[in-house]
Amino acid sequence: MILGNLCTRGCGFCSVPKGLPGKHEFELDPAEPANVARQAAAMGLRYVVITSVNRDDLPDGGSRHFAATIRAVRESLPAATVEALTPDFQGDLSAVACVLDAGPHVFNHNIETAPRLYPRVRPQANYQQSLDVLRFAKQHRPGAIVKSGFMVGLGETGDDVRAVLRDLRERGHADVATIGQYLQPTRRNLPVMKYVPPAEFDEWRRFGESLGFRMVFSGPFVRSSYMADLVAHEAGRASE
Ligand code: SF4
Repeated sequence: MILGNLCTRGCGFCSVPKGLPGKHEFELDPAEPANVARQAAAMGLRYVVITSVNRDDLPDGGSRHFAATIRAVRESLPAATVEALTPDFQGDLSAVACVLDAGPHVFNHNIETAPRLYPRVRPQANYQQSLDVLRFAKQHRPGAIVKSGFMVGLGETGDDVRAVLRDLRERGHADVATIGQYLQPTRRNLPVMKYVPPAEFDEWRRFGESLGFRMVFSGPFVRSSYMADLVAHEAGRASE
């Protein structure tokens, strides 16, 4: 996770420390891209997921730093697959392009939940904006796998889940969807409204597959980076 230890947003499901620009000190370590690349190489990684906090305080949302990290990792580990799991950059598509032009094999941006739950779950984000980011990614870099995910157990209905999957596929042009159970990380975060039984996850997977996703990874323990190498591999095979 790059771009510092503090996030400029306050999503209800997330326990990453939050900060207010002007009140807290936000860092951007210029050595971070090289350090990440060196560490990834030292670990001999085959698959690297690079993600970040939101940096709405930076004019480019941190996209150039994100791109520099992707380039450094690709250079030091040419055989590895690189996944960029990005913020929405407040809908700034030039920032999204900057990340894509660095050459990630997989572009991931999570939609997180149904639009009617955004005010509670993801108050500083915008559902349509996230769909626009995904659609732009597919248009700008058609060779990359475009991926998005969301949580269940936050109060959504079955109709909500079906609508989000349909939107990701038809409006976001996503290739891969991940669906996992929300778990409350601290007492300050949103409560779990429901523990979704495995059979429902199977139902969402079948429904998603019927929409034409290359892969739908759906299960209680699924997270957007969970077994990401397998997901990318299977999604790549599905396109052959
Ligand atoms: S933008 Fe990302 S890191 Fe920041 S609070 Fe939301 S989920 Fe957490």
